[in-house]
Amino acid sequence: MDTIVSLLRLFRAFLDWRVILDVILIAAILFFLYRTLLRLGTWKIVTGIFLAMVIFVVANVLDLKGINWFYSNLSQVAAIALIVIFQPELRKIFERAATLGGKKLDKSGPALAALYGDVAFVMAEQRRGGILVFPGRDPIKRWLTGGFDLNADPTIPIILSIFDINSPGHDGAVVIENGKLARYGVRLPISRSGKLSEDFGTRHHAAMGLSEVTDALVIVVSEERGTVKGFLDGRVKKIQDQKQLTQQIIDHWEKTASSAIEFPEYRKRRKLMPEMAISLALALVFYSTVIVGKMEIREKAVTVPVEYVAAPENLALRGDNPTEVRLQLAGPKSELDKINPGNLSVKIDLSQAKAGGQVFVVSKENIALPRGIKLVNANPSSIALSLEEIAEFEVEVQPQLVGTLPQGLELVSVESNPKQLRVLSPPTDASQSITIVTEPIYLENIKKSETLVRKVIAPPNVRPEGKQWPDIEVHITVRPKT
Ligand code: ATP
Ligand code: MG
Repeated sequence: MDTIVSLLRLFRAFLDWRVILDVILIAAILFFLYRTLLRLGTWKIVTGIFLAMVIFVVANVLDLKGINWFYSNLSQVAAIALIVIFQPELRKIFERAATLGGKKLDKSGPALAALYGDVAFVMAEQRRGGILVFPGRDPIKRWLTGGFDLNADPTIPIILSIFDINSPGHDGAVVIENGKLARYGVRLPISRSGKLSEDFGTRHHAAMGLSEVTDALVIVVSEERGTVKGFLDGRVKKIQDQKQLTQQIIDHWEKTASSAIEFPEYRKRRKLMPEMAISLALALVFYSTVIVGKMEIREKAVTVPVEYVAAPENLALRGDNPTEVRLQLAGPKSELDKINPGNLSVKIDLSQAKAGGQVFVVSKENIALPRGIKLVNANPSSIALSLEEIAEFEVEVQPQLVGTLPQGLELVSVESNPKQLRVLSPPTDASQSITIVTEPIYLENIKKSETLVRKVIAPPNVRPEGKQWPDIEVHITVRPKT
């Protein structure tokens, strides 16, 4: 029954256009986040976020208190921890995002790629060693040392001259940027992973090194073997002919030249349908469990104190009155969880009260309930009070003497000043029965006649006529025992 009710409530919630928009936006964010992180090659983060979301949803569905506590209390710490753990990946994301947009593959792209394809195999045939670096999205500058600026349009003769053994700049790599020969004689970082066989020399290890730390495509022409090899993402591949190399260069450009946030073209959209559907499903599950779960109406009992406020000057409460009321509250779970019983109280407003007995009903008007919280019932549901008119009395102040005088001393007189006080008290207490005493005076401490100052102690329903009780001077006269 309960499940049917909550299913109905869930269904009703989805009839609201704002909810639908909410879900679609969550799905869109999930989809683009997933695509973007995936394109940037940071699938570790994608998996991490996905796992965290799955655990969160499961914890919400099963109402797992521990995990929920963890999420609500430690999520900031966890976010910082994730930033630290994924620092290398995040750095890549920001670096790549910062370098996006600058590169575009224009129509001359395929022709340029073919030129590099040709020149590499001419070099291989002539047994001229060399390295060509095609940067991807990652900035490579911080990995490079040495070299000379060139910034020339690529032609086969220039490239062949650069890698001529007799030329002073033939050692090192040529870096190709924006379709130009940007620098030559550049040194690359040697690989330290040990992935590449020691049969290869420093040229190949240098190419491997750069491909391990960036997403650059590095082409090596071997002087010794007359082969052409492509290094990408820490992997090496032998390249058979011009065509294959040209294609690899074009593929690499295409993969790295587009923007980080991808707006798929039509022909790709069909392929992305499953991913979009999964995003939407995830968003729905997320919304239903987290948000609708929080909308679920629950009940909660709290015990709160009763405050009697604004009693008229001339009236006083009689007898023992309830000091606590137990309230049964109902509202969305999220709001109920926020309630702190310490901040709630039942306020009984006595400003309109008359002398005599009367009943006050405990209702939501007496309690400052947070928005969305309803009062189901209160126990007691009403409070019967009796109020009495207050009258003025003249009452004697009695010094409160405790113990006995030290040996050898006897009491002559004890006088208080003032002797009497005017007090306000409900009339049923006859004037005789009102006793007002001073704070205790311990006789054993009295060595000689003296005057002590003490505060007044009065019954709770007795009030001073003035704002506060005056201090009482107590004159104690003693003399040696005869
Ligand atoms: P090959 O197959 O062409 O002989 P190899 O891998 O056996 O290459 P070596 O024979 O050691 O490597 O080739 C040395 C050449 O590699 C150097 O003359 C220089 O041009 C190039 N080279 C060495 N170290 C680097 C480096 N850190 N960055 C770029 N080029 C380098
Ligand atoms: Mg060699």
